Amino acid sequence: AKEGGKDSYRLFTSEMNDSVQRRLRLEYHLVWALSRGEFSVVYQPLYDLKTNRISGAEALLRWNNDELGAVPPSEFIPIAEQSNLIYEIGKFVLDTAMNDFSELKNREGDLLHLAVNISPQQVRQSHFVEDFMATLEKQGFAPNRLELEVTEGLLLSNQPNVKEMLHKLHDLGTELSMDDFGTGYSSLSYLLQFPFDALKIDREFVDGITDVELNEALATAVISMAQGLKIKTVAEGVETEEQLEMLKSKGCDLAQGYYLSRPLDIDGLKTLLGEMGGE
Ligand code: C2E
Ligand code: CA
Ligand code: CA
Ligand code: CA
Repeated sequence: AKEGGKDSYRLFTSEMNDSVQRRLRLEYHLVWALSRGEFSVVYQPLYDLKTNRISGAEALLRWNNDELGAVPPSEFIPIAEQSNLIYEIGKFVLDTAMNDFSELKNREGDLLHLAVNISPQQVRQSHFVEDFMATLEKQGFAPNRLELEVTEGLLLSNQPNVKEMLHKLHDLGTELSMDDFGTGYSSLSYLLQFPFDALKIDREFVDGITDVELNEALATAVISMAQGLKIKTVAEGVETEEQLEMLKSKGCDLAQGYYLSRPLDIDGLKTLLGEMGGE
């Protein structure tokens, strides 16, 4: 919301040219980024709060360009979505992450789960499910090791085939997570309408959970509601031990955040798993 505010302010200032120019530069470089090998994928571990084990990780895209430096996904993903580049970029993320994770296990020897963010624009492609299945097959990757994270934007699009697509993916055994839960509208009704296996409690609520009463109440309500619906809860953006303990006490299933681990490149993740006695 902060970024949006800044952007709308800019429209009314002489900085407009700067932001338009920045956008054009990004778009220009984004077109070449994939073929120039400028993208990479990092992984942030997901901790199972019941067993204290790393059960999976979320794939997060990184873009490093010689001229622009490191551009954050919050800046380039929306441009990639608007220019339809997201489809090929999304394929790259799925392909890279499945390849990195093919044999990856935690110290108990369980294969790690892989969570991948999917843009509404990707799922709206009529051949998304077929392409996804082809990638699974090519990589020899079990569909039930994958969790696709989608935001409400997809469900809001109100296209009749979205529901069908989500059911197809779910029928394959792939898990569906609702990302950024609590930040949009009527999230509850979406949980009932679509086959979600998990919801991710947005960082905004986790952030204030130990000092803002409303956030604590919200987190409690969301977790108990999810339990009632037999949907797993994942807390994102856990930065302190207090937050972690609070979430555990409320019965939250999984957690992710800087307190537990920053996003790591694949070697860093392997080292972390190794340090825990794995591999
Ligand atoms: P997200 O899906 O909500 O991902 C979580 C973001 O929170 C990540 O930012 C992660 O680095 C950050 N984060 C994790 N733990 C903490 C913490 O304890 N504190 C704080 N302050 N931040 C934390 P990142 O990597 O910059 O990604 C931002 C967003 O960009 C993601 O939000 C997601 O919406 C999008 N994104 C990233 N990779 C992809 C991708 O491959 N495909 C698509 N479609 N979107 C992506
Ligand atoms: Ca996510
Ligand atoms: Ca999220
Ligand atoms: Ca978020």
